[in-house]
Amino acid sequence: MGHFTPILLTVVLTVAALQRPPIDWKAADQETLRHFQALLKFDTSDPPGHEKPAVDYLKQVLEAEGIPFEILFNEANRPNLVARLRGSGAKRPLLIMGHTDVVNVDPTKWKHPPFAAVRDGGYVYGRGSVDDKDNVVAGLMIMLTLKRQNVSLDRDVIFLAESGEEGSTRVGIQFMVNEHFAKIDAEYCLAEGGSVTRTGGKVKFASVQTLEKIPRGIELTARGPAGHGSTPLRDNAVVRLATAVAKIGAWKAPVRLNDTTRAYFERLASISTPEEAKQYRAILSSDPKVVDGADEHFLVREPRHASMIRTSISPNIIQGGYRINVIPSEAKATLDIRMHPDDDHLALIEQVKKVIGDPKVEVAWAQRDVRPGGASGNLASEAFKAIEAMVTKHYQTVTLPTMSPGATDMAYLRAKGVQCYGVGPATDIEDGPLGFGSHSDQERILEAELYRFVKFHYELVEQIAGRR
Ligand SMILES: [Zn+2]
Repeated sequence: MGHFTPILLTVVLTVAALQRPPIDWKAADQETLRHFQALLKFDTSDPPGHEKPAVDYLKQVLEAEGIPFEILFNEANRPNLVARLRGSGAKRPLLIMGHTDVVNVDPTKWKHPPFAAVRDGGYVYGRGSVDDKDNVVAGLMIMLTLKRQNVSLDRDVIFLAESGEEGSTRVGIQFMVNEHFAKIDAEYCLAEGGSVTRTGGKVKFASVQTLEKIPRGIELTARGPAGHGSTPLRDNAVVRLATAVAKIGAWKAPVRLNDTTRAYFERLASISTPEEAKQYRAILSSDPKVVDGADEHFLVREPRHASMIRTSISPNIIQGGYRINVIPSEAKATLDIRMHPDDDHLALIEQVKKVIGDPKVEVAWAQRDVRPGGASGNLASEAFKAIEAMVTKHYQTVTLPTMSPGATDMAYLRAKGVQCYGVGPATDIEDGPLGFGSHSDQERILEAELYRFVKFHYELVEQIAGRR
């Protein structure tokens, strides 16, 4: 008797699942393409933004399917859309997110016009094709498919099409988190920040962003007496500043690993050539000398990896002087800081002062949108396990949990306790240097990979949120 009810229940649920008509993926691909091209054709360049036409489009598609949604904004032209499919409430919601704005374009540099969604040679070209209208269309198709399939859910599935990701988060994620967090509060979030890497047309690995570094800025100001250029001064502000910048450039912040980066290098080693693998294993060593050897290799040959293991500092702006015969009284440098999420910013600025070791150089925080920090997406969670299983099923490759050196809007959600994972479609590693990547002048996506991503993402959501 004790066993009877669960078995009966399983039978009933299985029958219900079997009765659901199978998804016609060929038709879904066509529909994906139709929505994707429509979205790419809206010029949502940020600045100024103007995401409204894209949101109006999503609205009309969701309305036609009877999927409930809300439109929320603090600038009417830059709305956010939140749609929700209700589950039983047995588990907390799953949020899927994509941003409708794109970075600016210089149309004269584009072979295919940036907002025409041209299909050519198996690609779709257009600004936003891999950043981030791919995630927007995936979110839309997931909602449509869950609704049409009448999938029973253990948790609500929320779709957020947000504005302002590319530099104006005050209208997008910040507004949503500060003013309407209850509408997007979730246990897990899936959004941009991950990708599947192909090389020579073959899938090599899938990166899933589980954590990201925290951007900050530091400004250095050196001052000294002004004077005539014909009479050099020991206390020249430009020289003082240059010395400080050189010291920062030569300094290495200590290497720090965490669960994500440790798993990343272990797994990367397992799929790399013996030569590469040697460095990835060395960085995990308990011997500081071995670690330093690998670190030096990264700093010269694999700078992205060097950044992933520490707080990084890049001096990116330097200003001083205005004419050749005047010794300026002031010179400034701005440092781009990407903080390791486990580092303390107050200790960091003290460390920078110590490295410079010159009390006449003022060290202060620079103006910058400070994204909050938050805990890493758990590598043992139900969501991450589902991601790994779906990566294996759809891409037959290994999942690398990644701490991104760059920043995404997930930082704001992590700060609220949401476990976030960045996912994305497959792209060719060769495309970046050739100028076809995100933010490039010929941004494009492999059409077949867009379809694979939508299917992967749908089954992933179904796995995490569907009734078990
Ligand atoms: Zn993006």
